[in-house]
Amino acid sequence: MVTRRQTFRLYPNKPQEKALFGARRLHCYLYNACISHRQTEYKHNHKSITYFDQQNLLPAFKAEWVEFAALHSQTLQTTVKRVDLAYNAFFTGQRGKPKFKSIRNYSGWGYPAKSGWKVDSTGKHGTVKLNDLGITLKMRGQAKDWGIPTTLMIVYKPSKRQWFASFTVEVATPDSRFGSESDLAYESIAAYDLGTETALTLFDGAEFEEIENPRFSHKNDEKVRKAAKQKRRKRAPKKGVKASRRWKKINKRESNLKAKVARQRKDWQHKVTSDIASRYDIGVTEKLNTKGMTHTAKKGSKRKAQKAGLNKSILSVGFGTLNKMISYKIEQKGGLVLQLPTRIIKPSQRCPKCGTVHKEWAELKNRYHICSDCGFEVPRDQGSAMVMYNVATNQQPGLGTSLDSLGCFSATSETRKTVSMKQLGQKKRQKSSAMADGVSKTPSAIAVR
Ligand SMILES: [Zn+2]
Repeated sequence: MVTRRQTFRLYPNKPQEKALFGARRLHCYLYNACISHRQTEYKHNHKSITYFDQQNLLPAFKAEWVEFAALHSQTLQTTVKRVDLAYNAFFTGQRGKPKFKSIRNYSGWGYPAKSGWKVDSTGKHGTVKLNDLGITLKMRGQAKDWGIPTTLMIVYKPSKRQWFASFTVEVATPDSRFGSESDLAYESIAAYDLGTETALTLFDGAEFEEIENPRFSHKNDEKVRKAAKQKRRKRAPKKGVKASRRWKKINKRESNLKAKVARQRKDWQHKVTSDIASRYDIGVTEKLNTKGMTHTAKKGSKRKAQKAGLNKSILSVGFGTLNKMISYKIEQKGGLVLQLPTRIIKPSQRCPKCGTVHKEWAELKNRYHICSDCGFEVPRDQGSAMVMYNVATNQQPGLGTSLDSLGCFSATSETRKTVSMKQLGQKKRQKSSAMADGVSKTPSAIAVR
């Protein structure tokens, strides 16, 4: 059983939305009342109020404030719990002191169990019934994985004026989108290099695959810039001065454009990474330091503009995100991702054929590499992918043979696993022998420790 969160957009009609707003207001009142209760008790009686104190007061509270009686008692408990969590975060120093929340930005409420609501959906669109409000809401959206919904959160986004239903869903099978578990043979290996001109260069031992950077922002940059320029000419909000109607209008246009670019990028990233994860069981990449790569150039440096441009395209492809997405998608289907230590391997400076390290290859302007030792010719990014592939498959000249000694890590696991090629081989053998025995073992059961 895997738990996932799935969100659908809700389409309430007028009376339904009124009911939703009403419930939201009450939950906001309750939230603020709980904070006020804790504050006054502490101030006047030096007493710390706990979650259970407040939960036990709920029946009396409902008797006093009859409008709350209509709401499902578990949803009220969830809101009380929210206050408790906020205080816990405060006491442990993770967050500031809980504040009263304004109704304008109050996000919503939750149903912590299966009672009080009923969803009718096959994973695509459908309806959800909220028993306490007596309404059945239309919802639209498509879940990536659908199963048994166990909890529900009703969320309002004030900036968009939209309502959402967010479910936690118990899904029986592991992610089948990226290939099925029984097909895993740990045989298909792909090494990929993330770049700026070519977003991703992949090598699987036989052929190269290059995925171009789509540069969405460049198309929309002009529009965003135009909107920003117009906005500067309108009356912006200042202390004591309200923003003009025109400023608000253009401000909205600008943020919508930016949101559009973000959506396009995310969509593209998912398509590219799902495709790769569905085809390969082992991914090999270098341990990327995007933070370091996007550092601004030193003051007065001639490379400043150049570096700024590079930064922009690194950030616009969402380098780290691509890498992370491939990793989690491969691991979700039970595969493995190796992160090679860049400083030791030096994929972009090493000749894939003879292993010689050429310092001058490090410069980004050198897009095409010709080895002075062996004469091997390769475009920069393809060369990097090749070196990484060779290292993972133990074929790279000029480097030690054990991945252990190179300090390779599986990328996304919480506990860093050191993986050697020997262990990979064992994993592979176990897998094939298990299949020969007719016993199917899950990859987690044979995970490398
Ligand atoms: Zn060479």
